[in-house]
Amino acid sequence: MTTPVRTRFAPSPTGFLHVGGARTALYSWAFARQCKGSFVLRIEDTDLERSTQESVDAILDSMKWLGLDWDEGPFYQMQRLARYREVADALIASGHAYPCWATKEELDAMRESQRARGMKPRYDGRWRPERAKAAGLVPPADRAPVIRFRTPDDGDVGWDDLVKGPISFPNAELDDLVILRVDGVPTYNFGVVVDDLDMDITHVIRGDDHVNNTPRQIHIFNAMQRALPRFGHVPMILGPDGERLSKRHGAVSVTQYRDDGVLPEALDNYLARLGWSHGNAEIFSMQQLVEWFNFEHVSRSAAQFDPEKLSWLNQHYIKAATNERLAALVEPLLAKLGIEAGKGPALAPVVALLKDRATTVNHLAEAATLFYGDGMPEPELLAQHLTETSAPALRMLKARLTELAAWDKASLSAAMKAVLASSGLKMPQLAMPLRVLVLGRVQTPSIDAVLELLGRETVLARLSRHLDSD
Ligand code: GLU
Repeated sequence: MTTPVRTRFAPSPTGFLHVGGARTALYSWAFARQCKGSFVLRIEDTDLERSTQESVDAILDSMKWLGLDWDEGPFYQMQRLARYREVADALIASGHAYPCWATKEELDAMRESQRARGMKPRYDGRWRPERAKAAGLVPPADRAPVIRFRTPDDGDVGWDDLVKGPISFPNAELDDLVILRVDGVPTYNFGVVVDDLDMDITHVIRGDDHVNNTPRQIHIFNAMQRALPRFGHVPMILGPDGERLSKRHGAVSVTQYRDDGVLPEALDNYLARLGWSHGNAEIFSMQQLVEWFNFEHVSRSAAQFDPEKLSWLNQHYIKAATNERLAALVEPLLAKLGIEAGKGPALAPVVALLKDRATTVNHLAEAATLFYGDGMPEPELLAQHLTETSAPALRMLKARLTELAAWDKASLSAAMKAVLASSGLKMPQLAMPLRVLVLGRVQTPSIDAVLELLGRETVLARLSRHLDSD
C-alpha cells in the first residue's frame, strides 16, 4: 500500500497573498488533487510583530477566489506552542538539542571576533553540554534559555529535489540553530518540521528561497527519527527587469489583480503556466492542470512575469465567461461610480456587446457606463456634428424610428440605410452625428446594437432634445 499524498501551503500572514505564493499553492494543490491526496493549509503566524488577522483573511479570501480549496486547516502555529515545547524537550532528552544562555552581547562579540579572524560568523556551540561543562559555564538562574539544535559537525546533508534534482550541503557550513525562543515560540525551521511531521506531509512544495533552510530541517527530521518527505523548491517569479517581483513592479498580490478586474481562472492559468509547461498548451483549465501537472516540467530557473500575457489570457476568459456572470461582476463596479444599472438597459446584453474588447472586468464596467449616462454631448462636439448637412438626415431618421415596427438591430440598420439612400450621405456622415446626439461621444460599439439596447423611448427622447427645438 502506498502512503496517501499530503501536501500543504504554509503562508506567513505578514501581507497579502503574493502571486509567487499563490503559484506555489497552486502547484501544491494540483499535485494533491492529482494524487487524490489531501491539501493542508497552515498559517505560520510566529512572527508576532508582523502577523495580522487582516493578512490571514486576505490569504484565505485569495485562496478561495482562486479555487484552491483545502481539506484540512487552517492550522495556526501559535495555537501549537505546547507541542513545540514537547518536541524540543524530547530532542533535549535524546541529546539532539540543548539550552543556550548566551546573551545578545556575547553573541555579538562572538561574531565580531570571528569576522576579525576572517571567519564566517556563526554560533560557536559554547553551550553544548559537554563544552559548557568543560568551560565551567553555569546556567544563570534568573533568565530562561533558548533551545538550540545540535547540528552534526561533519559530513554532508542532501536530498533529491523534485524540481532541482540532487542538492547537498556540507554540515560544516551550518551552525547550531535556535529552535525555540526564550518566549517558547518556535523558529521557522523548527515549527515547519514539527508541523510537517504531525500533519503527515509527504511532499513539501515551496519557494526556492527556502533551499538553504532545507538542510537544517532534514537534520531535525533525522533527529526525530522520522522519514523525510519529498522536497520540491519552485523558482521565484521575477519582474520584467529581472529583479525579484515586488511592489515596485506594480501589482503583486492576488487581491490587487482581483480588484483590477482579472478573472480567477485567468490568474490561475497564467500562474500555472509561468514556470511549468505541458507541451504547447497555453490555455487550460484547473481540471487540466490537475491532470497534467508534474514536477519534471516545472522550470528550474526563475520565471519572468509578463503582464501582457496575463492580459491576453484575461481577455480570453472574459470572452468565454457567461454574460450573467460578467454582469454580476460589473454591477457593483458601476454602483461604485454612482450608476444604478437597474435604471438603464439590462446589464447582461450590454456586457455581451462589450466583452469582446475588454481586457479586464474593470474596463468592461467602464465601457458599460456608456449605457447609463444621460448621453448629453459637450456643446462644441454637438456644434461640430449637428450641421446643416446632418440635421435633415437625423430628422428623417427620427421620423422613421418613431414609426419603426420592431425595435431591433436589423430594423434599425434598415432605417439608417433608407435615410442614407434618400439623403445621399455616407454611413459615417449619419452615424457619427447620431452617436453624438444619443450618446454624447463619437466612439461607441456598433450603433445599431447600441440603439437597440438603449430602447426606443430613450433614443427618441435624446434625439428630441437636439432636433425638436428648431
Ligand atoms: N511560512 C513560510 C513562508 O511563507 C513557509 C515556507 C514553507 O513552505 O516551508 O515562506
